[in-house]
Amino acid sequence: SSSSSSYSSTKIFILNIPFSRRRKRHQVKAIAAAAAAGKEKILVIMGATGCGKSGLSVQLASHYQAEIINCDKMQVYKGLDITTNKIPLHERHDVPHHLLGDVDSIHEDFTPFHFRPRADNVVSNIASRNKLPILVGGSNSFIHAMLVNRFNPNHDVFTNCIPKPLISSDLRYRCCFLWLDVAFPILSEYLSIRVDEMLQLGMFEELAEFYDPHTAETMPYTGIRKAIGVPEFDKYFKKNPPSKKSGIDREAFEEAVEAIKRNTHVLAERQIGKILKLKEAGWDINVLNATEAFRAVVEPGIGRNRKEIWEKEILEPSFRIVNRFLKE
Ligand code: ATP
Repeated sequence: SSSSSSYSSTKIFILNIPFSRRRKRHQVKAIAAAAAAGKEKILVIMGATGCGKSGLSVQLASHYQAEIINCDKMQVYKGLDITTNKIPLHERHDVPHHLLGDVDSIHEDFTPFHFRPRADNVVSNIASRNKLPILVGGSNSFIHAMLVNRFNPNHDVFTNCIPKPLISSDLRYRCCFLWLDVAFPILSEYLSIRVDEMLQLGMFEELAEFYDPHTAETMPYTGIRKAIGVPEFDKYFKKNPPSKKSGIDREAFEEAVEAIKRNTHVLAERQIGKILKLKEAGWDINVLNATEAFRAVVEPGIGRNRKEIWEKEILEPSFRIVNRFLKE
């Protein structure tokens, strides 16, 4: 009978529904649960540009025997390491980083469609060595493309689509999501400071060397040339060609820097909007509020130390969440 005690309730339900209705909700759920048993676990660290993802990912990777897969669509390209904010080698603490600076492309975009199979391969490789893959980056279209079961390269999932958003919450890995969130006014203040720091590190010189007058005059912005900093400084170099080695054109320089700051703020705002959309679509995202840690940087002298706050408010909760996830 249908109430036979030798079957689990889910199984009985599936066996008893008419064939025509078999692919209904419960069965699909049961299949998903079964598939989940074999699915790899992935840790995903999300957040806007500048919020400390790279640092946190290395801290966690060192603790959990993990490897990092870059999910920033500009950092996948080779070159412009300062301009795109790639984590420097000495800050990686020997943690292997994948898909970071691997793609050599000026004239073509590396898209979510290209990213998905590449990242998939890397995950299998890392998992086969019994290590935990950590996906890290601000490109939410990459993260979505990589994680969903059914990926449609023709859909921009973040556009507002009526009647139903296109974001899927049917994922092909078992994921633990950490979102490093920083209140926007503090983040944007920090981002402006960071642009000045990048300039001190040699961003201008890096872009001067990268500048090619022919490409700048004739080609559309594709590949790594889309990175914030390239179009803004192209305008400067068109007026002041690096080959002429003339002094700094202060006015044009300040104009480029202001445009970079503005565009970085816009990028951060968009990225936060996209994470909120993923959350609304049912992604189980754990929020870690890093605002106070960043306030300690933009408002120095308030007596609190960034490192201490980071450990207490970001690192400790992260360890708790990830420990729980790895035990599941
Ligand atoms: P979408 O594909 O809808 O643009 P996304 O979330 O996948 O969104 P983002 O990572 O937000 O993509 O990048 C969008 C744009 O922001 C890039 O094309 C580039 O201009 C700029 N950008 C993103 N990351 C960087 C970076 N690391 N360095 C410089 N510019 C960046």
